[in-house]
Amino acid sequence: MSNTNEMILQFNSIAKNESFARVVVASFISRTNPTLEEVSDVKTAVSEAVTNAIIHGYDNGDGKITVKTVVEDRQVYIEITDEGKGIPDVERAMEPLFTTRPDMDRSGMGFSFMEAFMDELEVLSEVGKGTTVKMRKEIGAGHHFE
Ligand code: ATP
Ligand code: MG
Repeated sequence: MSNTNEMILQFNSIAKNESFARVVVASFISRTNPTLEEVSDVKTAVSEAVTNAIIHGYDNGDGKITVKTVVEDRQVYIEITDEGKGIPDVERAMEPLFTTRPDMDRSGMGFSFMEAFMDELEVLSEVGKGTTVKMRKEIGAGHHFE
C-alpha cells in the first residue's frame, strides 16, 4: 500500500485566503501526528509564502495561488506557486532583511522564517512568469516514541 497522500488547493490571491491556506495544510498533515510546534512551523512557512505571492507576486492584484501538499511517511512537501511578476535575483531576495517593500512595513524576514522552520527551502522564479516556493519538513524528527 502506498503511503503517499497528495492534495492541491487553488484560490484567489486575496489576503483573507492566507489563513484559509494555512489551516487547510495544517489539517491535511495531521495524519503525520505532528507536535503543536511542528504544526505551527508549517503554518508559519505557508503563511509567509502565500503572503509573498499576494503582496509581491501579484502586488495585491488579481491572480491564482496554488498550494500543493504531499505527505509521504514522515515527510511533508509543500509547493506554493503564483503566476505573478517573479523575482529577478532569488539569491538576493532570500537574504535576511532584504525587502523590495520597506514602504509597506515589510521586514524582509519571510524567506528566513521559511528556512528556519522547514528542513529544506527552494525558490524557483522567472520574471514575468511567476514563482514557486518548495519546502520540505520531516515530522517527528525530534520525537521517536512509537
Ligand atoms: P516580510 O516577509 O518580512 O514581511 P518581505 O516579504 O519583503 O518582508 P521576504 O518574504 O523574505 O521579505 O521576501 C523578500 C523579497 O523577495 C520581497 O521583498 C520581494 O521582493 C521578493 N518576493 C518574495 N516572494 C515573492 C513572490 N512570490 N513574487 C515576487 N517577489 C517575491
Ligand atoms: Mg514576505
